Amino acid sequence: MGWSIPILRVAGIQLRIHITFLLLIAWIAFAYYAQGGSPAAIGGVLFILLLFACVVLHEFGHALAGKAFGINTPDITLLPIGGVARLERIPDEPVQELVIAAAGPAVTALIALGAFIGGGSWDYPPTTKTSIPDVLFTMNVVLLLFNLLPAFPMDGGRIVRALLTERYGPIRATQIAVGLGKIFAVLFGIFGLFSFNIILIVIAFFIFVGADAESRGVLVKAMLGHVRVRDLMSPSHGLVSPAMSVYDAAEQMLRERRLAYPVLENGRVVGLLAEPAVGRVPPNERRLTPVSKVMRDVETVAPDDDLGRALQAMGSRDVPMLPVVQDGAMIGVLLRSDVMRGLRLQELEASQKLTSSWRGPDKQIEVGA
Ligand code: ZN
Repeated sequence: MGWSIPILRVAGIQLRIHITFLLLIAWIAFAYYAQGGSPAAIGGVLFILLLFACVVLHEFGHALAGKAFGINTPDITLLPIGGVARLERIPDEPVQELVIAAAGPAVTALIALGAFIGGGSWDYPPTTKTSIPDVLFTMNVVLLLFNLLPAFPMDGGRIVRALLTERYGPIRATQIAVGLGKIFAVLFGIFGLFSFNIILIVIAFFIFVGADAESRGVLVKAMLGHVRVRDLMSPSHGLVSPAMSVYDAAEQMLRERRLAYPVLENGRVVGLLAEPAVGRVPPNERRLTPVSKVMRDVETVAPDDDLGRALQAMGSRDVPMLPVVQDGAMIGVLLRSDVMRGLRLQELEASQKLTSSWRGPDKQIEVGA
């Protein structure tokens, strides 16, 4: 996700905060400062950090549930509307999606319950005089209600989709959940505008954008799910070694007109070198910098993997290519352009099918006559 800053890594999960989250902290600090000077501002920031911790725990609920089904979470990003745990793939079984979507709100409900047992009660909006249990109880109840809204990309939207998938199939179920998400986004936006509530407007924006991104992912997966990597991969593609200098790798890029290479050591894929990483090395240091220093991790795919899965691997790490590996050896690469080609071919194939179904009735009429 763009515009986010990595802060720390916990259990292999990269925690990031979105730039707008910092704006929220600044805004809260300012709003509290206007109310009661610097002590209030510090209180306001502490309040946000507490909220931040609760959101992180919520997201870890999703991540751990995902892990139980063998789905990793490369990163968690904190946004003003809460967090987003980016699972490396959408679970195939609706019941898994249901469990993963419900795990976050379950954690939030537990924190709220703990705060309630600890003497916390409802106090909204919280002020500098609100006790910690009150703050914890109130904001976790708010978090819970928000996340259970039946609107994408909130958890409630995912739960709705999982429940609808059985009956309507993944595409229609997603479309319904996305539609609901947009209705909520517009309602929030209008309400936010009339009540001058900036946070509501920001929430509306994120729901609207998030709903669209999610539906695109699902539609692409549905279209490309049955195409194999083998059908579209580029079999002959250059490679570089980790010991090679960045300068030589750049020269090879220019010579072969490529923007990225898999990095191979003793026939094994150990990373990916892409042009932006080369560009970041100052020109006078490129001869002395080995590729191993600037290469990045890369997932590999098998030739029989479906393209939907490959696309998710590409999208979740934003990589320009995936090495295709069979029995430990690289047999080709799958480029972003290969995936685009696959999409266009699918569209063409679908339109060709429409043509043949138009012909069907004509023939029947001939037979009948
Ligand atoms: Zn959640």
